[in-house]
Amino acid sequence: MQKSACDSRPNLCGHTPVELAELFRERGEASWRSDQVFQWIHKKQIFDFGEMSNLGKGLREQLAGEFATMDLVAVRHAVSRISDCEKFLFRLSDGEHIESVWMDFGDRQTLCVSSQVGCAMGCSFCATATMGLKRHLQADEILQQVLYVQSLPGKDLRNIVFMGMGEPLHNFDEVDRAVRLLNDPLGMAIGARRITVSTSGLVPQIRRLADEGVPCRLAVSLNAVNDPLRGELMPINRKWGLDELFDACRYWTDKRKDRVTFEYILMDGVNDAEEDLKGLRSRLSRLPCKLNLIYYNPTDRGYRSSETRVYDRFFEALRNSPFAVTLRQNMGTDISAACGQLLVEESRG
Ligand code: SAH
Ligand code: SF4
Repeated sequence: MQKSACDSRPNLCGHTPVELAELFRERGEASWRSDQVFQWIHKKQIFDFGEMSNLGKGLREQLAGEFATMDLVAVRHAVSRISDCEKFLFRLSDGEHIESVWMDFGDRQTLCVSSQVGCAMGCSFCATATMGLKRHLQADEILQQVLYVQSLPGKDLRNIVFMGMGEPLHNFDEVDRAVRLLNDPLGMAIGARRITVSTSGLVPQIRRLADEGVPCRLAVSLNAVNDPLRGELMPINRKWGLDELFDACRYWTDKRKDRVTFEYILMDGVNDAEEDLKGLRSRLSRLPCKLNLIYYNPTDRGYRSSETRVYDRFFEALRNSPFAVTLRQNMGTDISAACGQLLVEESRG
């Protein structure tokens, strides 16, 4: 499922310095030019070849004729009035749309990026799921979300989370490439501990992520602690159940010597009972991990967020567990900041 052929010029944002060097060599240019171009794009967010002042005029013109850099177009930019949160709706070069969400938690600016147009996983509570999977994003399209936002005044991204549209581990190779590019010391140089890939639970790919040393941390969207309920909310659980999922998480923590972050949205009357609380405590006490309790942003999928007192109950009851618990601030509900929401609303006009 590749990008359609309507964009004529290859995009350089997804090229590694080594690939750029090869490209320059083929054109009879010194290969060290590649580091310069990489730095202009990734470190300085200069996308216009004409402004790359340390390159010769001829080379600049040649590059501009042959390659693209920033071809995402921000067609909507919504700024929350209630929290430090902004949402971007981007048009891709083939006319498809994706979203990114910027959040400022005080000490660190975070960008939540999309990895696919839509998603194939079909989770019952998620707005993105209603689109189905349109296509995977290419690494350059993932990078461009980050580079675009970083280029804006006042933006200084320190944290990247793959929690926007799509299932990142379903698009493993492009996400792997994007993570390595974000981590590259010549570019954004975002540390492995500051890039988080979130998955609904693709078990073999969790193991692959661990084995291949992709410089990132792992988050798992849990949302239920018994197989029947999780299978109902997240169909992927019918393929790989909770025991297999936790085995893969254990594999991650052993191999990477890093904890896993579990995400849990509390939905009224669905997964917020005392036995869910007990199940969470019991499952999560068995491996190095952290739990993020997340507020459910309303969609029209028929679920309601639990009441605040239920979040407080879970938080208080789990505070003294062997694992850390955080209650994620309710960000950007006024701009439909949850995954896929803005796009689904737009498409309904
Ligand atoms: N596909 C990956 C990453 C994108 S979804 C995954 O599922 O992990 C990122 C997170 O958004 C998931 O934890 C999911 O549970 C959560 N989410 C989906 N819809 C939401 C909503 N309406 N409100 C709050 N969080 C939501
Ligand atoms: Fe896809 Fe994640 Fe939404 Fe599930 S929660 S449909 S995996 S984006």
